[in-house]
Amino acid sequence: MVVAHRKPPYNVPRDRSPTAAASGERSVNPLTPLSNLAAIDAAHHLHPFSDMKALNDNGSRVIARADGVHIFDAQGKKYLDAFAGLWCVNIGYGRREIAEAASRQMNELAYYNTFFGTTTQPTALLAQKVTGYTGGRMNHVFFTNSGSEATDTWFRMARVYWKALGQPSKTHIIGRRNGYHGSTVAGASLGGMRHMHEQGGLPIDGISHIGQPYWYAEGGDLTPHDFGLARARELEAMIDELGEENVAAFVAEPIQGAGGVIVPPDSYWPEIARICRERDILLVSDEVICGFGRLGTWFGHQHFGFQPDLAPIAKGLSSGYLPIGGVLVGDRVAKVMIEEVGDFNHGFTYSGHPVCAAAALENLRIIEEEGLVERVRDEIGPYFAAALKTLEDHEIVGQVDAVGLIAGVQLAADKATRRRFAKLDDAGAAVRNHCLENGLVMRATGDRMLASPPLIISRSQVDEMVDTLRLGLDHLRETLRK
Ligand SMILES: *Cc1c(COP(=O)(O)O)cnc(C)c1O
Repeated sequence: MVVAHRKPPYNVPRDRSPTAAASGERSVNPLTPLSNLAAIDAAHHLHPFSDMKALNDNGSRVIARADGVHIFDAQGKKYLDAFAGLWCVNIGYGRREIAEAASRQMNELAYYNTFFGTTTQPTALLAQKVTGYTGGRMNHVFFTNSGSEATDTWFRMARVYWKALGQPSKTHIIGRRNGYHGSTVAGASLGGMRHMHEQGGLPIDGISHIGQPYWYAEGGDLTPHDFGLARARELEAMIDELGEENVAAFVAEPIQGAGGVIVPPDSYWPEIARICRERDILLVSDEVICGFGRLGTWFGHQHFGFQPDLAPIAKGLSSGYLPIGGVLVGDRVAKVMIEEVGDFNHGFTYSGHPVCAAAALENLRIIEEEGLVERVRDEIGPYFAAALKTLEDHEIVGQVDAVGLIAGVQLAADKATRRRFAKLDDAGAAVRNHCLENGLVMRATGDRMLASPPLIISRSQVDEMVDTLRLGLDHLRETLRK
């Protein structure tokens, strides 16, 4: 059923900035008013992670253009995007340099594959550049088009690695409840999202999950330090239960993103690293969100001070301008893949796509040239954390976790006892919707408000974000009082 849209026809805003002119009006068929797009979309487009019935009743939000940290919808309403698209637009929107680099590459060589021993210039240069941020520890990369494909790639690689070493029983992989590693079969299985497992008969065999280091919700009477150790030691217990000789790898995000920006206690990662080392299983750091400056380091594992064997990347690698991902491969695994395995029967038609690689190279050039990683570590990150921490005085805020430019704001029904709202999802959604009405895009995961803005966000924009979020929190508190 096609749903008529509420207030047609929209006034398409005229914008004078060159990027907006290019991406906004001319990209839409002039015979299709933007006002009709919501109805067309409802009639033909099945969306990822969207309640399709609600969406068809309300109409999709049509985003028409973007610049810097701002997005604009079809009615011309401006939003501060404190979520960087989906955790990915690290350098902000509207960078002409990327459009030009992609255009140059497309005119020179729009496509060639990397199968059967071929490569292209931007792909080779990107492999050199991206491995260069690992401090000499991970000198190879396998390219994919997304984070999910990166997950499927290391999943097979880990098993192939152990088989090549004469330990074919080491196949089991351990993930965490409430982790997120993508939506493919391996990705959704390794992730620990119950609502994803319920659809499609997941997880597949050979995968187990341990608990997450979410102290606020699950720490009980333990101190964060002791709870961090206890959760890490669940890995040790799980390995013992399965038998070390049957376990290939453990995977985790340095900070869980989609799970609600869960920042582990300081005791957690060193203990995980110790266990993986002692039990001889591969440690996989899912860097899809934490990579490329988000935590004020090139990769999240550098912030926490541990060394993974494999590290899937995507999102910030191209700041979302074009789809590209990959797996960084540590020297221990790379040596076996090259010398023992030789031919890894795995790959994607667009692995290392030259136009995506050219866009990623330009993105990394911008991050380097503008010192965005250092900016997050030394300047805007600490400012962002301090500004958000002021919300801890709010009656319904239990705790603020912020590292670099990622944050989770924990809502609480009773701060003193860490009691949570009866309907977690409703609490978060009420704040999120209020923010949206007031021109701020944030995400709510249950009763946590999540922020992950572009790395170029200014101090005054951080202030605006916190002020608008505070209004949303006030709104929820008032609603609850009634
Ligand atoms: C987004 C995400 C993925 C999946 O990446 P896609 O590009 O959406 O396939 C994997 N891991 C983490 C931590 C992510 O946030």
